[in-house]
Amino acid sequence: MKQKEIDVLVVGAGPAGSGAARAAAQIGARTLMIDRKKEIGTPVQCGEVVGLSVVETAGIKLPPHAICARQNYTRFVVDRKAYVDNRSPYWRSATVERKIFDKHLAMEAAQHGSDVQADCRLVDAEVEDGRITSVQLRHRGKDVELKPRFIVAADGVHSTVAKAMGKEEYRGDSIASGVEYEMVAKKRLPPCMQIFIEPEIGLGYGWIIPKGQYRANVGLGLVGRSASRREFLSDWINEHPVVSNYFDADKVLEVKTGDAPVPGFEGGPVMGNVLFAGDAAGQTLAFVGEGIMPSYICGGIAGRIAGAAKNDSELESYDGAVREIMGEEMTLGSDLRDALVMVWEMPDLSDSQKSIISVMIMNELIGEEDMVMMDSVPDGRTLMAMMRQRIRESGKPIKLTGIRR
Ligand SMILES: Cc1cc2nc3c(=O)[nH]c(=O)nc-3n(C[C@H](O)[C@H](O)[C@H](O)COP(=O)(O)OP(=O)(O)OC[C@H]3O[C@@H](n4cnc5c(N)ncnc54)[C@H](O)[C@@H]3O)c2cc1C
Repeated sequence: MKQKEIDVLVVGAGPAGSGAARAAAQIGARTLMIDRKKEIGTPVQCGEVVGLSVVETAGIKLPPHAICARQNYTRFVVDRKAYVDNRSPYWRSATVERKIFDKHLAMEAAQHGSDVQADCRLVDAEVEDGRITSVQLRHRGKDVELKPRFIVAADGVHSTVAKAMGKEEYRGDSIASGVEYEMVAKKRLPPCMQIFIEPEIGLGYGWIIPKGQYRANVGLGLVGRSASRREFLSDWINEHPVVSNYFDADKVLEVKTGDAPVPGFEGGPVMGNVLFAGDAAGQTLAFVGEGIMPSYICGGIAGRIAGAAKNDSELESYDGAVREIMGEEMTLGSDLRDALVMVWEMPDLSDSQKSIISVMIMNELIGEEDMVMMDSVPDGRTLMAMMRQRIRESGKPIKLTGIRR
């Protein structure tokens, strides 16, 4: 590592880190991005799907070699009884091979002038008066001390930098635990992402994210479940009437697990000379846990501000900039998450009713005023009829069909 005078140290080379390193280096800041992984992008802990509307906000072109599938719509599978196919632009998506995508983003950061060091872990940080004065790195077996002016903490949901700074950790309900298999399908998959909302999962959801016509990520995002998640996923795949049509749990190419922060929108957090970005800042669309593109966008904002800053107080503009660019979408994501949590806490509703209402919330077919009267909604059939009527009234390209057995 030859460069010792660093303006911006970016910790973590996920989408947030690469977005930050690229932006900081592009405006001439001496930038170093480090990652503890020996190979950037692996292991994958992700469903790998990106919403095309957020890609548009990011203003980037997805690298063609990283795209493995495109989905024109999203299918919600409601309580194993009905399909809700949503063809609104928001629910179009692409699946990226993150091993390729993350490395591509890191390569771009390097090409824009940032140094990049894999196998380089931030071990500790010295904090004085609420700012980091020096960091201890372990770089390929050697200890290195650096004194960067500014730091972008893009080191994920269990951020080491956040711990060193005493930032509140994501725990309990602000974490969703994911478990996922990359699988081979028995028959051709429909060209959509499928989201499963049902009593068997509870608060959280299941997914099939195509990675081609006969390959997909099949997983579960679970909130507050401690029993063996892999066993639960295998059983879920094998006994589910829709999922077992396509997959059996004996054809697994890769196992992926990880935690996603779903804390609600916190804007762009800054502490002293540190800007937090991506999962380390909870910058996900909280109701679905989508974080790849939001992290890249917010990381880019952090890098631009850190790269141009002359002193700590100039970092304060980060929060406003994040809110300006991502505020509307992230606030909506948080509101929808809060509504989902509220529904699953309602004691008088059955899990089946909660599942149907959750799908209505995710498709924005229900408002706050409806939630007040939900206690008195009698049964699932009535709710399905209500959903059908709301779809008609909304004029949105959404279709509801029963699942034929
Ligand atoms: C099971 C699961 C499925 C998901 N599916 C999707 C999905 O389909 N679509 C989507 O958009 N989002 C999804 N997400 C969320 C998405 O993966 C994250 O929001 C996104 O990766 C956040 O990017 P990031 O750069 O902030 O953090 P990360 O991608 O987590 O990158 C952080 C990096 O920091 C490095 N690091 C950590 N500590 C240190 C240290 N001390 N020193 C040096 N380096 C360090 C890590 O090695 C890592 O490379 C999913 C999450 C989970 C858990």
